[in-house]
Amino acid sequence: MSGIYVHLPFCPYICPYCDFAKWPYRRSMAELYLRALEREIDETPPFRASTLYFGGGTPNTYSSREIAALIDRLSTRFGPFDEVSIEVNPDLIAGDEPSEYLRAGVNRLSIGVQSMIPDEIRTLGRRHAPTDVARVVAGARAARLQSISMDLIFAVPGQTLESWSQTLSQAIALNPDHISVYGLTVEEGTPFWEWRAREPAAFFDDVAEASLYERAIEMLDRAGYQQYEVSNFARMGHECAHNLNYWQNGEYMGFGVGAASFLDGVRSVHTRSLAEYIEAVESGREIPSQRETLKDAARTGEAAMLALRTRRGVHFADFKERYGIDFLQFYAPVIGDLRAAGLLDVDDQTARLTKRGLFLANDVCGAFVTFA
Ligand code: SF4
Repeated sequence: MSGIYVHLPFCPYICPYCDFAKWPYRRSMAELYLRALEREIDETPPFRASTLYFGGGTPNTYSSREIAALIDRLSTRFGPFDEVSIEVNPDLIAGDEPSEYLRAGVNRLSIGVQSMIPDEIRTLGRRHAPTDVARVVAGARAARLQSISMDLIFAVPGQTLESWSQTLSQAIALNPDHISVYGLTVEEGTPFWEWRAREPAAFFDDVAEASLYERAIEMLDRAGYQQYEVSNFARMGHECAHNLNYWQNGEYMGFGVGAASFLDGVRSVHTRSLAEYIEAVESGREIPSQRETLKDAARTGEAAMLALRTRRGVHFADFKERYGIDFLQFYAPVIGDLRAAGLLDVDDQTARLTKRGLFLANDVCGAFVTFA
């Protein structure tokens, strides 16, 4: 399986914690970018992909007509797609837009909710009201979109265990098919980075953050969502196929500024300069990109790290078939340490994170990347 990712980088406003490749929306620039994107797509040799994902930025700064034209263009070269997802900002999306997206070929809507608490929404620099989220979900249900997903953020300054529980219960009450929960990461160069430097006490420490994560796991489990990845929960049959492909170390092709690809063992990331991207595509030059060929231990370490993030974990027979190595033997020292620390469960077929391991997933999974 392989996937296509399309980066649509414009946003109606810029959130103070955001480190993505994004720019404030300007119609003239968004049109120039769309032309460049179309050209990049047209000049890429065709291959078959089964998922398509529009991420951002805020993809719904483009109209459903423009999204439909992009889906047509991409389907001709890489489709047909089984799953077509689009990220949307709930304060930009009109009531009838979900049905227009459905007509355009989208079957999965990922709503950037982040919080249902007005103060936290303001802290995050977002502008929607909780009622906007309910309106978008109702529109998507009426349109009979196949899957509705919500993104939520925990460890927001000012958040409490109670307010996080309220966000979770209000989200669950809207009955989405899929919920992603992410701990806030404070990235260098963002206003939140400066804020934390000035006022570290406003931010969560690891222990307090872990209790928020634990609350999410408990509440989502009780509501019937299965945790199929460290940050992702879904009702049966609503796992995100596009993201599962990433965690299964499958191939993907990214289009647009800052987009990443993984093809033939080579990981590449396009330039994060908008001007450089547009200029390169329009002049027919290669898009400036960083490239890295993953070989041997780097390749298998990355595969182990990604697989361990999922509920399925590393399946030894599959690992051997795909990478030609005996997982248990090759990683024996790492596995021994992680088991002794109660972070990894190993049976005769698979290795998986323990519940404790989930809370330290980045460190546990990262141990396989640094082992060589
Ligand atoms: S809407 Fe999303 S991509 Fe845009 S600035 Fe906010 S967090 Fe970043």
